[in-house]
Amino acid sequence: MRCQPGFSFLCKSNKVYFHMSGAIVLESTITCPQCGVSKTETMPVNACQYFYECTGCGALLRPKPGDCCVFCSYGTVACPPVQMAGGRDGCCA
Ligand SMILES: [Zn+2]
Repeated sequence: MRCQPGFSFLCKSNKVYFHMSGAIVLESTITCPQCGVSKTETMPVNACQYFYECTGCGALLRPKPGDCCVFCSYGTVACPPVQMAGGRDGCCA
């Protein structure tokens, strides 16, 4: 989850947005903050997923304060509503 210059996306707070590319990315790899297990999940397009159960340790993850969903907090890609809005300001939260 680091800014990588050279790609066409906006970067805020070390979070990658694919706004400029025009493509909505539906897969995000969530990394559990408790056990470090990563898993690629497909995100719902029209909603924010608020809870995510880690497949490694079973921890129930919730978004960090200010984030609308677990993908924005722990995923490699921000959730689709945020991507479509071009940033988390336009998210459903
Ligand atoms: Zn875990």
